[in-house]
Amino acid sequence: MSMHDAGPKATPPASRRGTTVPADFDPKVLHALKPEGFYRVTREFFCCAKKCTKFETDTFVQLGYNGNATPLVFMPQVGANGISIPDRGSVVDENTLANLQPMKLAARSPKKTWNTKL
Ligand SMILES: [Zn+2]
Repeated sequence: MSMHDAGPKATPPASRRGTTVPADFDPKVLHALKPEGFYRVTREFFCCAKKCTKFETDTFVQLGYNGNATPLVFMPQVGANGISIPDRGSVVDENTLANLQPMKLAARSPKKTWNTKL
């Protein structure tokens, strides 16, 4: 196990609106970021210490990042027209990403040929 704790847990960020990189920013963190894409929640977690959004086990989610490399989790929704992905995601703490397992998705073929036509 190589869990390096960034610091004491007693000091949550007062605001998430800041756009500057903190002084103790560790560039190695960037390498630990998971790629954007689709994931399955392997263990229930909350977005942050405030528990605004709960992600339940086996939920299908999309991971993205904003301009500050802050992870955002989107919850695709199934409707009459298939799966749609909402415009807004939840800002989550980076350490929650450990609960996400990448999913394999079939990629759409770039060719527009239809082999099923008889
Ligand atoms: Zn939250």
